[in-house]
Amino acid sequence: MDDTTTEPTAGLDFIRTIITEDRVSGKHEGRVATRFPPEPNGYLHIGHAKSICLNFGVAREFGGTCNLRFDDTNPAREETEFVEAIKDDVRWLGFDWDNLHFASDYFEQLYAYGVQLIRDGCAYVDSLTADEIRSSRGTLTEPGRESPHRGRGVDENLEMFRRMRAGEFEDGAHVLRARIDMASPNINLRDPVLYRIRRAHHHRTADAWCIYPLYDFAHPPSDALEHITHSLCTLEFEAHRPLYDWLVNNLTVPARPRQIEFARLNLTYTVMSKRRLLELVQERHVNGWDDPRMPTIVGMRRRGYTPEAVRNFCDRIGVAKRENMVDVAHLEHAVREDLNKRSPRIMGVVDPLRVVLDNYPEDLTETFEIANNPEFPSTGTRRVPFARELFIEREDFMEDPPKKFFRLAPGREVRLRGAYFVTCVSVVKDARGAITELRCTYDPATRGGDAADGRKVKATLHWVAVKTSIEAEIRLYDRLFTAETPGAEHDYREDLNTDSLQVRMARLEPSAAAAAPGDRFQFERLGYFCVDPDSTDRRLVFNRTVTLKDSWARFSAGA
Ligand code: ATP
Ligand code: MG
Repeated sequence: MDDTTTEPTAGLDFIRTIITEDRVSGKHEGRVATRFPPEPNGYLHIGHAKSICLNFGVAREFGGTCNLRFDDTNPAREETEFVEAIKDDVRWLGFDWDNLHFASDYFEQLYAYGVQLIRDGCAYVDSLTADEIRSSRGTLTEPGRESPHRGRGVDENLEMFRRMRAGEFEDGAHVLRARIDMASPNINLRDPVLYRIRRAHHHRTADAWCIYPLYDFAHPPSDALEHITHSLCTLEFEAHRPLYDWLVNNLTVPARPRQIEFARLNLTYTVMSKRRLLELVQERHVNGWDDPRMPTIVGMRRRGYTPEAVRNFCDRIGVAKRENMVDVAHLEHAVREDLNKRSPRIMGVVDPLRVVLDNYPEDLTETFEIANNPEFPSTGTRRVPFARELFIEREDFMEDPPKKFFRLAPGREVRLRGAYFVTCVSVVKDARGAITELRCTYDPATRGGDAADGRKVKATLHWVAVKTSIEAEIRLYDRLFTAETPGAEHDYREDLNTDSLQVRMARLEPSAAAAAPGDRFQFERLGYFCVDPDSTDRRLVFNRTVTLKDSWARFSAGA
């Protein structure tokens, strides 16, 4: 993508409207600085893509900056593997950060902020257990109860906080809490915990710390230290905003960022929490984070989705303040639309049925010139070999066809794409009655796929010549879940689609032999496919990225 700055125009979403107003009023000195703050505890998913497109997109549109900040304040679940994967994902989507930060780089500063709050009488060390703290929090209708340790003097608090850091107490023995208001109608303001003791190895700071700041405490000063102007986060943080503002107001921070919440992306037939995605991987319901059925960025990438398609999708769904559910068909539509432009066509037969043309010379091999992408003639043509023995798709033939089946059947004539009209004359079966071969004739006067006498056929089939075809493994994917909202009625695992992966041995036209992992094609009539990294010199493996039409009935009538 280019790095030119485009002025936003009418039809702005509420976030871009706020930013435009802030620039006009001179707030934040007219600057725009955002950040994308993932916790490195898993791979990014399509929901994160929405946040990435928003944060980096806004920065680009307003001539601002966007940082990538790893929110690594929870040592137990975080790993360096995820840090590297997340960087790759952001770059793959087409974005680059202005600065790379880790919340853990601020640990010393955050500790100093804790000390400042204690000095100012705004924080205290509490010695209640986690359970006691929870049960004294109160409810939406009842105020909380003040801790007996709330009145500890500044000196004692400072000393205890120092000893917490020095490792003199057991895990969980004490916490640092903000002293705000135990009767606040907002539970987040009832003396929230800021620091806890936790002996856990951190992926970057190793064992330097045994106290760790909570997300709610770390995030506002981290934003401020990076001079973030607009801290965009998802709606569940709306009730945390008063605490965010309280911290920005009570700490000596170099800037005053503003938190703005937007609705997270929810997709039908998809689970999106990192916890569940991790379970799917660990319990082997899928083959890793990059399984093409996963809604992770690595999964979508391996499946053959393009960054352009994902970005277009994110732009189209937009940002709003209210939660909603987006039909996954919209994502698939964006993928199809983009792949249509960029994918050369080839012919491949996923479930081959042998056809012999009785009246075609044994030793003849013709080649037919076929367009690489009929919608974009500039993409040229290729030559596809044709011969007496061919494969067609097994489902393109029916011995006893119902009324609406227009493809090949005994006595019926159809077109083989770009080649000839052929007519089925007989069916060959094995001892158990399974069809093994079709005997057909071809009409030489239909060379190139059209009859000289103007006669019409109702179907055009794709085909490959047996001798010159190459074998390839084809992985056909269906939705990972059968329920629109997995887990709405029971454990989400019960909604897993047990038939979400089918493997076939297909035959492809020889031009596919040169394909390399990541290459994308449209297999005529079957869908968009891309070469999987599991491919070897001996055998190509293809993933079906998406079918040509929405096969989930709702949008398309009939097949
Ligand atoms: P999950 O709930 O899937 O574990 P998370 O919110 O814990 O996600 P983070 O790594 O903390 O994951 O998220 C980084 C950023 O991405 C946050 O600003 C978060 O709000 C945003 N984000 C996460 N999920 C979505 C989503 N479904 N839609 C939009 N933004 C999201
Ligand atoms: Mg989170």
